[in-house]
Amino acid sequence: MHQITKKSVFVFALVLHGILFFAQPNDQQIIKSIYKSSLTNSQCYSWLDYLSNSIGSRLSGSANAEEAVLYTKAQLETLGFDRVYLQEVMVPKWVRGTKESAYLLDNKTKISIPVCALGGSIATPKNGILAEVIEVNGIKELEALGEKIRGKIVFFNRPMEQENVETFKSYGACVDQRFDGAKEASKYGALATIVRSMNMRLDDFPHTGVQSYGAIPKSQYIPAASISTNAAELLSKSLKKNPHLKFFLKQSCQTLDDVLSYNVIGEIKGSVHPENIMVVGGHLDSWDLADGSQDDGAGVVQSMEVMNIFKNIDYKPKNTLRVVLFMNEENGGKGGKKYEELAQANKENHIFALESDSGGFSPRGFSLESDEANFTKILSWKPLFEPYLIHSFSMGHSGSDISPLTSKGIIKAGLRPDSQRYFDYHHAANDTFDGVNKRELELGAATMASLIYLIDQNGIVK
Ligand SMILES: [Zn+2]
Repeated sequence: MHQITKKSVFVFALVLHGILFFAQPNDQQIIKSIYKSSLTNSQCYSWLDYLSNSIGSRLSGSANAEEAVLYTKAQLETLGFDRVYLQEVMVPKWVRGTKESAYLLDNKTKISIPVCALGGSIATPKNGILAEVIEVNGIKELEALGEKIRGKIVFFNRPMEQENVETFKSYGACVDQRFDGAKEASKYGALATIVRSMNMRLDDFPHTGVQSYGAIPKSQYIPAASISTNAAELLSKSLKKNPHLKFFLKQSCQTLDDVLSYNVIGEIKGSVHPENIMVVGGHLDSWDLADGSQDDGAGVVQSMEVMNIFKNIDYKPKNTLRVVLFMNEENGGKGGKKYEELAQANKENHIFALESDSGGFSPRGFSLESDEANFTKILSWKPLFEPYLIHSFSMGHSGSDISPLTSKGIIKAGLRPDSQRYFDYHHAANDTFDGVNKRELELGAATMASLIYLIDQNGIVK
């Protein structure tokens, strides 16, 4: 039976053959009301407007990130939670410094190149680096070249594969060039690395993203930057004509001391099983080149909207529901790790976690980390989602902020919107508010609320 509140507007009377019946609302009706609430009465788009246009980029440790913490906390306080609180977490603070510059020098022709430093990179020397370039399609080719790269700038140019409809698959297949490129190239004496932006289309935006030097000594760190896909095409073509052309790179980024920041959390106690916790969240930090409206402002406001929807339709969850806005997903994942550390310390039992961190586009379904029994159960709900064009339920990665969670039997899910345009914006200067469609954003929030509702009603199979 469904648990409903006294005030529920869903209780309705049926007069049949003169006899009065009281019918409980069914899942179909509740889900309809969830979508209706989101499409007619949501706040997520205006929250995103504020986060993007009044606050702006929210790189961990920045003043904007702190402003976003205070803003979202204040908004959560209006949504009827039992408790809204901040969870302290130390985060890295990396600053880009003066805008980077790059050009290629082919004989006497200088062509300016759209460039940005990768997150966590060191600066170049003050006057920049001018050196020959060696193009590789990945780390394997780099290793095969070995000492031949000494004294050169290594150019990683393996594009994202076009054939995958699920574009995250293409991202996963080439992001190692960005993440590990500098660390690997430094082993053979490269001076710096540049990587083709992780972008499916050809344009002039350089895309940033985190890179890591791993455990190599600081003295061996080399600068790492990203160039636009158009620039990568041009550089590759130019190198074929003139393998001795030179590339100039100048950047002044640096890593400062870690600073105190926060996860923002709203919690409503479960009416039947307060000891069972369901989490819904996204990450509050973004890269610094733009508002981060898709990555991950969308996921933040959709998670907040889940609670707003439940409030609007007067649904009180049986299990405890937490909206968690994680800090520092982009360059450290410290918020997700801290959340799990405290969950362990407090012996909390999480039964379900849902993350939205794949953009605010039209929702298509969920990617699930679950055992067979619960996966089968979730698949049985597919017909309930069909009217809303939600059809894709597959096993796979859920989300990076919830991935540290280890409660026994926990089910994790990631909202999976259409991903065709996501990498046009991801970590680039065009990830701004105008790229997010209001209705698509709202449909995503409703889809998330519907799955949480079904898990809350039906529990999980132990
Ligand atoms: Zn993200």
